[in-house]
Amino acid sequence: MQPAARRVTLRHMAQPRSKIESNLSRIRENIASACGKAGRSVSDVTLVAVTKSVEMPEIRTLVELGVTELGESRVQHLALRAAELGETLQRRKEPLLRPVRWHMIGHLQRNKIRQALDWAEVVHSVDSLRLAEEISVRAVKLEREVDLLLQVNCSQEEQKYGVAVGAASHLAEMISTLKNVRLVGLMTMAPLVDDPERARAAFVRLRELFEEMRRENSGGPDLRHLSMGMSQDYQVAIEEGATLIRIGTALFQ
Ligand SMILES: *Cc1c(COP(=O)(O)O)cnc(C)c1O
Repeated sequence: MQPAARRVTLRHMAQPRSKIESNLSRIRENIASACGKAGRSVSDVTLVAVTKSVEMPEIRTLVELGVTELGESRVQHLALRAAELGETLQRRKEPLLRPVRWHMIGHLQRNKIRQALDWAEVVHSVDSLRLAEEISVRAVKLEREVDLLLQVNCSQEEQKYGVAVGAASHLAEMISTLKNVRLVGLMTMAPLVDDPERARAAFVRLRELFEEMRRENSGGPDLRHLSMGMSQDYQVAIEEGATLIRIGTALFQ
């Protein structure tokens, strides 16, 4: 039988390094121009590369190009890719300038917490007290700190995940008292629309909530990130204050 990774690469046409490199530089230019427009510093915006649609060759290329914040939306993918990348990097002669950090960005079921925390240092998708409590219990056991973001449903439409805007402050207050977790920010998924301008309202809502929580200190002392913006709408998100942008398609296609 073929090893699993081999089977995957055979089925998959890897994008060449030059393609990823030019995508990355275009994204960096767009980040800079959105920051310029908003009077923000580019160093305040971190690109989280979402690797769910690609395989190891592209992930290695990205890391070699200096992108070390990586995101996955499913725990099983996270575990496979993080393990394999870790092995590859161990074989490198020179250490990376910055270590790789994995972000769990998709919905997290409580029975997958243990596996997620084996690899992820940041969880963007916390939307209930029970989930946060169980992450805390596991983090205590591992004697580690885990960074959490509270996922908020900021679009008017029905969304499967995310706490309602009106309930976010109270939940954040409770999460910020848990052991071995740091509530570092808020996350939202904008509605998927063709015109990025139509996502702006959701980003504004998240920023206003964030500012209110900071004013009232309801999220605790570590609240500093806004995780918002994807391939379609990251420039608008940056204009509205995003500090973490989660980009997949625009990097790899
Ligand atoms: C897939 C995904 C992204 C990236 O989406 P693209 O449109 O490919 O950039 C960002 N955030 C979450 C939660 C995702 O699942």
